[in-house]
Amino acid sequence: DLLVVGSANADLVIGVERRPGAGETVLGTDLAVHPGGKGANQAVAAARLGARTALLARVGDDAYGRLLLDSQRAAGVDTVGVLVGGAPTGVALITVDPSGDNSIVVSPGANGRLTPADVRAAASLFQASRVVSTQLEIPLETVAEVVRDLADGSRFVLNPSPPQPLPADILAACDPLIVNEHEARVILGDAAVGDSPEDWARILLAKGPRSVVVTLGAEGALVASAEGVARVPSVAVDAVDTTGAGDAFTAALAWRLGAGATLAEAAAYAARVGAAAVTREGAQESFPTAAEVEAL
Ligand code: ADP
Repeated sequence: DLLVVGSANADLVIGVERRPGAGETVLGTDLAVHPGGKGANQAVAAARLGARTALLARVGDDAYGRLLLDSQRAAGVDTVGVLVGGAPTGVALITVDPSGDNSIVVSPGANGRLTPADVRAAASLFQASRVVSTQLEIPLETVAEVVRDLADGSRFVLNPSPPQPLPADILAACDPLIVNEHEARVILGDAAVGDSPEDWARILLAKGPRSVVVTLGAEGALVASAEGVARVPSVAVDAVDTTGAGDAFTAALAWRLGAGATLAEAAAYAARVGAAAVTREGAQESFPTAAEVEAL
């Protein structure tokens, strides 16, 4: 089974002609409210593919928290690990201008109150999970506790987003660390990044993870481990909206690894899932079923 430990946010989206300056008010479109947050997105993406998936997260005791619980349950995610209360549900306030550019303010809210003690209290979920997947929209000390609480033989997958420099114990547990170009640059800090994604992958691998996956948008991805560096073929599609593609990719990869696939096999499948997700608008709404991935 797959356990996702991470964030759950309500995405509040308003279209604007232009953004307001300080002290100014502008009118926008009707408000759209979508379930989001990288943890919630990954859990829904995996469950929609058919993975037995549980989410460990924290939401507020409020309407957005109920929206998030409903969307997880509708996708078939086990929500026994979704804790309620302590702060308002995390929110992303998003304005979108006519060129499609976003401006986003995130209030982490309850995500910031998902503590190491919450992780320790979820021991039964860890025992039942072959793969545990996390991101960085929850406190870093909570992610560090996840690494300490992994069941024997279970595998840790991390997409360090939003990126920050990582301590050695977290890096060493990653199998794989999944990064896009921006995340790779932040994780590597001042270290020479090199010119090609193959270079980033090799330098990242030297920092301690057991394996590394670099996602390259329409170019697909590449995988790096002790066995070497290999390209993962991209899948040609008409991209409509790339929101959530990275979350769908990570979820699919984690699920296939838990099912016994090699890293290269799992990444090739994940690239098809990511490609399917960009052919539709939205994040969770855009995630494919296994049948849709087959049909691609
Ligand atoms: P992130 O959203 O984290 O930056 P990417 O944009 O690299 O991640 O997308 C994750 C994966 O989704 C890619 O590795 C690729 O497999 C797939 N993908 C993303 N955009 C496209 C696209 N335009 N065409 C085909 N596949 C895509």
